[in-house]
Amino acid sequence: MIGAGAILPDLVLYLRYAASGQITDAAGGALRVAIDLFNSVPLYAVALALALMAGRRWLVLFAASALLHVLTDFALHADDARAHFWPLTGWVFHSPVSFWDHAHHGRWAGLLEGVLFAACMVVILRRHRAVWVQAVVLALTAIYALSFVHFLGHAFADRHWAPW
Ligand SMILES: [Zn+2]
Ligand SMILES: [Zn+2]
Repeated sequence: MIGAGAILPDLVLYLRYAASGQITDAAGGALRVAIDLFNSVPLYAVALALALMAGRRWLVLFAASALLHVLTDFALHADDARAHFWPLTGWVFHSPVSFWDHAHHGRWAGLLEGVLFAACMVVILRRHRAVWVQAVVLALTAIYALSFVHFLGHAFADRHWAPW
C-alpha cells in the first residue's frame, strides 16, 4: 500500500508516457486537471483524515504515502514546480532546491536522495526476508537505478542519459 500510494501522484504521467511517449508536464484540459488532482496536498490531507477516522490501516498508509510524495515534490521542484494546493489556490512554490537541476543545488540534493534510497532499501531487505518482498525491492531498485543514471546525466553532464 505504501508503494502504491507513493506511485499514485505520478501515475498520470506514466500512463501518458505509455500512451504517447510524452514525458513533460505540459498538458491541457482534462489531463491538466488529472495531473493537478493527483498532486494536490489538500486532497491527500483530506483522504488521510478520512482514513484515520474510518480506522482503515491500509487506507491510512496509502494516503500518508501519497501525501509524503507530494510534500517531497513541493520541497524539491524549482523551475518545474506544480500548483500543489490546487484546487484551493493555483499558487506555485518555486523551491530554492531541486532534486535534479544543477542551477538549484540539484547535484548534492540528487546524490543525497540516492544515498537515502539505498539506505531505505538496505533496511527493508534486512528486516523482511520473504522472497516476494526481496523481489519487489530489487525491481524498485532497478527502476530507481535507471532514473538515477538519468539524473547524473542532467545534473553533471547536461546530457539526456536515458533509453526513453
Ligand atoms: Zn511526483
Ligand atoms: Zn532527460
